[in-house]
Amino acid sequence: MLEVVALGGLGEFGMNMLAFSWGETTIVVDAGVMFPDPELLGVDRIIPDLTYLEQKGHVSALVLTHGHEDHIGGVPHVVRLLKGPIYATPLTLAMVEPKLREHGHDGVELHAVRPRDRVTVGPFTVEFIRVTHSMPDCVALAIHTPIGIIVHTGDFKIDQTPIDGEHFDVHRFAELGSAGVLGLFADSTNVDRRGFTGSETEVIEAFEEIFTSATGRLVVAAFSSSIYRMQILVNLAAQFDRKVAFVGRGMMENSQIAQRLGYLRIPPGVQIRDSEVAGYPAQDVLCLATGSQGEPFSALSRIAINDHRHVKLGPDDTVVFSARSIPGNEKAIGRVTNHIARRGASVIQEDVKHVHVSGHGSEEELKLMLSLVRPRYFVPVHGEYRQLAQHARVAGRVFAGRTPKPEILLTENGDLLHFDERGARIAGKATVGRVLIDDTKTGEVGDEVLRDRRHLAEDGLVVPVVAINKQTGCIEGVPDIITRGFVMENSQELLADGARLIGEVIEQASVEERTDQGLIKEKLRAELRRFFRKRSGRRPFVLPVIMEI
Ligand SMILES: [Zn+2]
Ligand SMILES: [Zn+2]
Repeated sequence: MLEVVALGGLGEFGMNMLAFSWGETTIVVDAGVMFPDPELLGVDRIIPDLTYLEQKGHVSALVLTHGHEDHIGGVPHVVRLLKGPIYATPLTLAMVEPKLREHGHDGVELHAVRPRDRVTVGPFTVEFIRVTHSMPDCVALAIHTPIGIIVHTGDFKIDQTPIDGEHFDVHRFAELGSAGVLGLFADSTNVDRRGFTGSETEVIEAFEEIFTSATGRLVVAAFSSSIYRMQILVNLAAQFDRKVAFVGRGMMENSQIAQRLGYLRIPPGVQIRDSEVAGYPAQDVLCLATGSQGEPFSALSRIAINDHRHVKLGPDDTVVFSARSIPGNEKAIGRVTNHIARRGASVIQEDVKHVHVSGHGSEEELKLMLSLVRPRYFVPVHGEYRQLAQHARVAGRVFAGRTPKPEILLTENGDLLHFDERGARIAGKATVGRVLIDDTKTGEVGDEVLRDRRHLAEDGLVVPVVAINKQTGCIEGVPDIITRGFVMENSQELLADGARLIGEVIEQASVEERTDQGLIKEKLRAELRRFFRKRSGRRPFVLPVIMEI
């Protein structure tokens, strides 16, 4: 009997992780992280609860589809359970290596694979299939099991003009489909978008216009994993006689890795160091920077507040955000664009010019995948519940009139999916959840952020901290209040009363309010402001921190 469990990535974006078990053998596909809301001070990353894997004893192999953080960021936390190799393409492995080194896991066997390669792990044979996405070297998987073939798409779109000439392997998906596929697990991220997503090359036109009209320095903020975007911009820079500098740790690291492995080609004489930027006339430079999400310590944030050692912005300069804003980061991005505006530079975002294209397939691409693979069972993955449900509806339309009609299994994290001679069903529930990772061992994460904000608040800063169960909306543990620059007589008593008030406010709220970070934060903020004004006569800056557990 084949058991498949999603430990993350269902009902949420990020933290993708699937476990496949047959008898004694368990393989894990992807080990991703999720990045917390920027307001969740003190938490760097979130990974899935690994209790299920611990109960299995050990993991026989870790298979990675591609090098995005939501697929590899949790690798260092899974390797302690791993008794076997990590299988992935060369670029993915190269992006995993520094993470393993950082965490002191040097002894892990890294096994590089190419599309159409097959590796055998116990009763499983895992086959790698080329897909296109927003970075190079991405694969889907066909997992051959004793009961049938499971196809897992990984993240994909169908880019018919791939920059590196590596085409989406339509042929292999079609072959598998006609040979017979038991189960299809497919990416649901962009199921809400009509039509086709479009090629990575689509951004070239908008950037050509920008390069043509820009009279000063050009700074483009993008994800540091967007190697294709880097290549497009490097090519344009060479064409328009600009030097390219990679600014920010992620950009520097990934551009080095990609160059070393041949995924990024930079003509001689084009690349300069960030420390050399100031030595060139502004109109001769292109900076590729981290910070497209407004991350407070990224290169772009530093540049925006005129606090970067090497890169300054002036009135003729242009900053381009070449990435989508991840929901929840809009405010942080808004703050950065305000700073850029204060420098006098202009800002170009996705809504004004076509400077970004998604890496995930839209409705028509997802339909094509469904009709190519035509599995007996279809399981939507990678998305919040509404995307999974929409993907199920789309599949229902694709399969309408087909006999026998494929069955659609709408599952959630932890559902034990069993495949045997009689078919597939949800047979129980594994322990799932989230583990919050704090990278600085001092427990003082966010301190700098707090100091920054204290500056803004003349009357000090009050941070009510409360953990709320994401499902039930109940308070977990005891609410706490942290203060900075807010020293009062009787403050112990005052804070104890404040903490009690937090409990009351949450208890009086409806479950929907309690499980909505925005709503409950606003409520706490209003109540605590009133409380402190009445009791202390001061108006501290109240910044509620809600930890969803
Ligand atoms: Zn991805
Ligand atoms: Zn992903």
